[in-house]
Amino acid sequence: MSDWSKVSRPVPVPNEWTKPFWEAARRGAPELQRCQSCRSFQHPPYATCVKCVSVDLKFEPVRGAGSIYAYTIMYHTGDKRFASAVPYASIIVELDDAPGALMAGNLLGAEYTEAKVGRRVEVIFEKLNDDITLPQFKLAAHG
Ligand SMILES: [Zn+2]
Repeated sequence: MSDWSKVSRPVPVPNEWTKPFWEAARRGAPELQRCQSCRSFQHPPYATCVKCVSVDLKFEPVRGAGSIYAYTIMYHTGDKRFASAVPYASIIVELDDAPGALMAGNLLGAEYTEAKVGRRVEVIFEKLNDDITLPQFKLAAHG
């Protein structure tokens, strides 16, 4: 299985639009940006709704349960910081509560071969430092 203990990750830098997302992740309660006009979710956060161009956007709490929408197996890495984790599954997840908003993360605690489209996963939180906690994924207990 991938050894993530030796990986020193690049730490995301929140900006004006993504800050509420990272603050929610730090609290261990995922929130995604939702358009208050057409009610669609989107991720990553933008200044306007990608569907209706409204600027009336808010972050709303979502449950961390979802399904794998797509995945890539990383066999090689150009970034040597990830060398000890290769091969690993980099997955795109659609949460049940936020259809259309796609979150990216790694599948942790499972062999990369477990990554399949449609597989049930749950968000877990990996604390990188005092400011940044990274949403990641594990296989759902009953999936
Ligand atoms: Zn909209």
